Amino acid sequence: MSRKQPGQHFLLSTGARTLSLAKVLRMSEGAAWEAFKALRWSATGGDPVCPKCGCVAVYTYTARKLFKCKACGSQFSVTSGTIFASRKLPIRDILAAIAIFVNGAKGHSALQLSRDLDVQYKTAFVMTHKLREALGAEQAVQELSGTVEVDGAYFGGYVSRPTARKIGSTVA
Ligand SMILES: [Zn+2]
Repeated sequence: MSRKQPGQHFLLSTGARTLSLAKVLRMSEGAAWEAFKALRWSATGGDPVCPKCGCVAVYTYTARKLFKCKACGSQFSVTSGTIFASRKLPIRDILAAIAIFVNGAKGHSALQLSRDLDVQYKTAFVMTHKLREALGAEQAVQELSGTVEVDGAYFGGYVSRPTARKIGSTVA
């Protein structure tokens, strides 16, 4: 089965778009974990889906915040199979990055993000790159399929001329 889940990227879901940075910053790590889980697996109402085989029958190890697929036996975390999988960041920081990035009207620089999240520049750089890539790729797909939602988001350098023109005409 394909690793890519059907439908829109979770970073462009309503949940991600309406994520409030202030709310995220008030969350405990546990609450942030629940919020990320609900965001990532919104299609199943927050129930974990195996990133390897797509199975929804999953054991949950609550204490370690890990899941195990009943079908293929692979263990996974809430970030496995996402662009945040290799990041050793608290989930709250990841959520904050999403709130800043997805809701920001202008592209957020890695330097700004490293200051905002109080993480190393390199960490912020990799994260901004991955976020731009994920959001940019998804927006390109949506352009092609004609289901563009214009919300004023602009990621510097990632909107090509034809795309920009199309967005402009949609607004007008
Ligand atoms: Zn599986």
